Amino acid sequence: MSKLFALTAPPALLVVLVLAPQGVGYDDTPRLPASQWRVHDKARPVPDVVVAGRGAAPPSDAIVLFDGTDLSAWQGREGEAAGWRVDGGVMEVNGSGDIRTRQSFGDVQLHLEWSSPTEIQSESQGRGNSGVFLMGRYEIQILDSFENRSYADGQAAALYGQRPPDVNVTRAPGSWNTYDILFRAPRFEGDELVSPGIVTVLHNGVAVHHAEPFLGATRHREVATYAPHEPQGPIQLQDHGNPVRFRNVWVREL
Ligand code: MG
Repeated sequence: MSKLFALTAPPALLVVLVLAPQGVGYDDTPRLPASQWRVHDKARPVPDVVVAGRGAAPPSDAIVLFDGTDLSAWQGREGEAAGWRVDGGVMEVNGSGDIRTRQSFGDVQLHLEWSSPTEIQSESQGRGNSGVFLMGRYEIQILDSFENRSYADGQAAALYGQRPPDVNVTRAPGSWNTYDILFRAPRFEGDELVSPGIVTVLHNGVAVHHAEPFLGATRHREVATYAPHEPQGPIQLQDHGNPVRFRNVWVREL
């Protein structure tokens, strides 16, 4: 700043000049394609700081959906109080029906942990069946797929009825499994689908779907199809009649 400018600049402007953070980078580099920013742009805002959780603990900017204490983030399918049993830091399916988040979401990072019943009572789809439905429509299957033969596109971590996981990473009944799901919601223009829902799934830290498109909303014994819907929807957990347990559920909006 020239001495003359400093002497003649109004006081308010001087304050702004002093407080404005000094950018680190360049202002003479080429512009990035389809971007207002240059390569290494000194004016480009730096990302917010988020404190990562230790282990599977939620990061500081997560929306915690279940921390082991209560179902306040959840409701039944008709808006009634969520009826699943909460005990010992876990929630458990108990025959009271599916539960869904009160809040609606579009593009998300979702973390959840689930455990199938220790006591094996049935087989195939009757064993530890539940599921997580993104936007209330697009199911990532939950199933006790540990030494349990079922159809491939219905086993744990499958895009149910559409695509099996690349590998089966399911832990033994009673053990905890983690899902880390990255989901890009489908886009509609009017009644027309302009881009499908796209999902990446890590099962116990292992990638089992990478940027896979959903064919449509989940169906049983039918080919999934899309129908236009709102840009956001609830995350829904399935009550399929088996006492599957959940803990440590959190989401980040992307
Ligand atoms: Mg299911």
